[in-house]
Amino acid sequence: MGKVAKGVSCSVTGCDQSAVRSLSKAQLSGSDLKVSGDRRVYLCHEHYKQWKKTNKKSDDMERIRWKG
Ligand SMILES: [Zn+2]
Repeated sequence: MGKVAKGVSCSVTGCDQSAVRSLSKAQLSGSDLKVSGDRRVYLCHEHYKQWKKTNKKSDDMERIRWKG
């Protein structure tokens, strides 16, 4: 996950906002966001928030897994 250069737009289908975050496509699995792109996807602020919400569960699970 990282910062995105200016001029990159959101990868979500139908969204043309400028992206603020890049994620791997694997990180988006489990969310309802429909994205174009291959391994790397870009999200605008709104969709990033949306993704964070839907991703919360798996995030917690990962934390538990890491704790062992
Ligand atoms: Zn967007």
